[in-house]
Amino acid sequence: MFKALVLEQQDKKTLSSVKQLEVDDLPEGDVLVDVEYSSLNYKDGLAVTGKGKIIRNFPMVPGIDFAGTIAHSDNTSFDKGDKVILTGWGVGENHWGGMAGMARVKASQLVNMPVGLDSKKAMAIGTAGLTAMLCVMALENAGVKPESGEILVTGASGGVGSVSVTLLSQLGYNVTAVSGREENTPLLQELGASRVLPRSQFTEKGRPLDKQFWAGAIDTVGSQMLANVLSQVNYGGAVAACGLAGGFDLPTTVMPFILRGVNLLGVDSVYCPLERRMTAWNRLVERLPESFFQRACKEVTLEDVAEQAEAITNGQVTGRVLVKL
Ligand code: NDP
Repeated sequence: MFKALVLEQQDKKTLSSVKQLEVDDLPEGDVLVDVEYSSLNYKDGLAVTGKGKIIRNFPMVPGIDFAGTIAHSDNTSFDKGDKVILTGWGVGENHWGGMAGMARVKASQLVNMPVGLDSKKAMAIGTAGLTAMLCVMALENAGVKPESGEILVTGASGGVGSVSVTLLSQLGYNVTAVSGREENTPLLQELGASRVLPRSQFTEKGRPLDKQFWAGAIDTVGSQMLANVLSQVNYGGAVAACGLAGGFDLPTTVMPFILRGVNLLGVDSVYCPLERRMTAWNRLVERLPESFFQRACKEVTLEDVAEQAEAITNGQVTGRVLVKL
């Protein structure tokens, strides 16, 4: 028997409770994993609260990522005792996920734990951290270099934002953070932001083309924020867009693209190919300093997840939340 967070639906409302499950309750898959840590991502928040239509089949165990040890394998790629990480692939959305003591998934969805990480650190990074690295790699591929100029990170206190600020600063970029929470300014500066701008500076409808300030940007917010960022990007610069914390619309014009050659780079971590994931994980190990794990991560239990899910969907979570199984 092991504990799991189980989501059920009653009268169109999503209800969550911690239950005892058995291995036989788990869905099909060729590897069984002893889950040590999961983490709380924005999408988990939407799933657990029911604020977003993430889950279509109930009951469901949420948790879009986890790290742990192989307990049983029917696949030659993994042996019992191997340490592994899973992020994405619809796990925690349409297949039971990481917020349980055990998970049964497809071996093809796992990556080996990179040397230098353990389950706890892997989930301190989690989907959010992986996505931050994929955004950094997208900017690099678009030719944005540390010497190109300032890089803007929106939703900076959140999971993706806080890892992005840290990574960019470790790579030698000059980072400006945007945050709606003034109280997080000291933390963002400790993580490596050289300045922190208030969110309110980006929330009103701006001009199609504004003054050029940014060589690049990582946007986790979408909507008017992304539109305003695009209008301020330098000629030939790039914006990696991965999130919708402020809304999924994009009220922009073609002007930044056709008059300044600005590149809008879409970033997805869920179905990112394995090779690129491994590159991203290895670079995360290389670049994330120990101080990130101490400053920007907190640990909760399954019993705390419902409350934390409400908080993350209200933009009230700072940094990363690990869920210990
Ligand atoms: P978090 O909630 O941890 O971070 C989001 C941050 O955005 C908040 O901390 C807050 O930062 C800011 N924010 C919240 N609400 C608003 C608002 N209404 N308007 C403007 N800013 C707001 O979430 P994550 O970091 O886990 O995820 C960020 C986004 O990225 C989400 O939309 C998520 O779905 C997406 N995502 C996408 C992935 C992909 O593969 N494409 C993978 C992972 C995440 P502050 O208070 O500092 O302003």
